[in-house]
Amino acid sequence: MAESADLVVLGAGPSGLAAAWRAARRGLSVVVLERAGHPGGLSASFEVAGIRVDHGSHRLHPATPPHLLRDLRELLGDDLQQRPRNGRLRMGDAWVGFPLKAGELARRLPPGLLARVGLDALTAPARRGSPTYAGTLRASLGPALYEALYAPYAVKLWGLPGEEIDEDQARKRVTADSPWKIARRLFRGRPDGQGKIFYYPRRGFGQIVDVLADAAVAAGARMRLGTACTRIVVEADAVRLHTPEGELTAGHVFSTIPMPALARLADPGPPPEVTEAAGRLRFRAMVLVYAVHQGGRWTSYDAHYLPGPDTPVTRISEPANYRRSADDPADRSVLCFEVPCAVGDDIWRADDHSELVRDTLARSGLPPVDLADLVVRRLPQVYPVYETGYAAHLRGLDAWAGSLPGVTTFGRLGLFAHDNTHHAMAMGYDAVAALGEEGWDAGAWRAARERFAGHVVED
Ligand SMILES: Cc1cc2nc3c(=O)[nH]c(=O)nc-3n(C[C@H](O)[C@H](O)[C@H](O)COP(=O)(O)OP(=O)(O)OC[C@H]3O[C@@H](n4cnc5c(N)ncnc54)[C@H](O)[C@@H]3O)c2cc1C
Repeated sequence: MAESADLVVLGAGPSGLAAAWRAARRGLSVVVLERAGHPGGLSASFEVAGIRVDHGSHRLHPATPPHLLRDLRELLGDDLQQRPRNGRLRMGDAWVGFPLKAGELARRLPPGLLARVGLDALTAPARRGSPTYAGTLRASLGPALYEALYAPYAVKLWGLPGEEIDEDQARKRVTADSPWKIARRLFRGRPDGQGKIFYYPRRGFGQIVDVLADAAVAAGARMRLGTACTRIVVEADAVRLHTPEGELTAGHVFSTIPMPALARLADPGPPPEVTEAAGRLRFRAMVLVYAVHQGGRWTSYDAHYLPGPDTPVTRISEPANYRRSADDPADRSVLCFEVPCAVGDDIWRADDHSELVRDTLARSGLPPVDLADLVVRRLPQVYPVYETGYAAHLRGLDAWAGSLPGVTTFGRLGLFAHDNTHHAMAMGYDAVAALGEEGWDAGAWRAARERFAGHVVED
């Protein structure tokens, strides 16, 4: 099969689908190559015991830019619901509402910790930090809050102590950088409603990517599911893409696959020093354990956040509590346990996670599950790890990727960024905007990349 298109998009996650839809709507011929048998990437949903579940807790945040939210409202109609946030976070032996609320914190936190957090707030201006995740957060939030919450969570999420994580991680993830800003937020909230509400589709988060895929196909994009790109031959006036089914010629390629994977597939490949740099960029893996609970809803909460070191589980979500849907059965529920890990370690290889489920619930003071079934999904590349020194490796790889004629990399793993779905979609929109009538607009893309650098991840 020899096929050609103005644009070939690698990956049908939200970034690739948003780009494919926008480009097809503009009249470009578009082919999407997706390795998985379904669209959506990490934002896809699927069924466990007849209940739609996500790849871990997923919400569409109110920080979503208005033009994206408008498009999603048009595509999803009434199925896009506005929901109140109803999560809890374990701090020591206490549960506090998450996102945090001032009055509740004052009531529930152990008095000693509360006093130390208060003292840290007073001494904040005098603190200076080292350029690491630990140093930055100890200086801004204070040692008490850092040690109680962020330090153990970092080890679980990224597999490293905060001292070995670059300060960029703090900038990208922690949206309030001083105790005063946190206090202001706790009392006043954020004007966009972030922390109080979120948006979620009736049929699971993946309904977002499903409607984007449908819209792209309706606009003329050709969707090749179950078709991995295996080689990318970059020539002066076109790019040839190999798949197990044949070859495709593209005027331009948008790659949303992990940037190191792009380096492995490209022909000619990068110089040896860039290949080495690509090999040093690490991704954290995740095992998702779906526990089917019989007897109706397990709790009324949407998610339980577990930063403490007594379990490797970071979060437990109950997908049916994220939405109102008559499709969700009354006699059972599914809980999703997120367990960050490394490919090949004990968690990754374990073949029975029922003890982990039971032990985590017992240690966290949560109700037990009446376990009917366990379903496990293993994701090898979930979080980019910002180990100290990563920035230099990424810069070299990114500069090489940027030099490939006719190829543009973006998306969460395509840019090695911890971005949300709305960020990924915004990248797709901006990439199509840079694909002008006169060809690729490098200046517009540079400006877009500067905007992406300011993305802050919402939890
Ligand atoms: C645990 C967890 C919780 C999250 N919670 C939220 C949340 O609450 N809110 C939020 O907004 N975001 C959340 N996110 C982030 C969200 O999932 C991502 O931002 C989003 O899916 C990124 O989209 P993407 O298109 O960049 O990449 P992806 O979704 O990773 O899609 C990339 C696609 O490329 C495909 N691919 C890879 N290699 C090839 C190849 N060689 N050929 C063809 N195809 C290939 C993959 O199969 C995949 O479908 C969460 C992520 C995780 C892991």
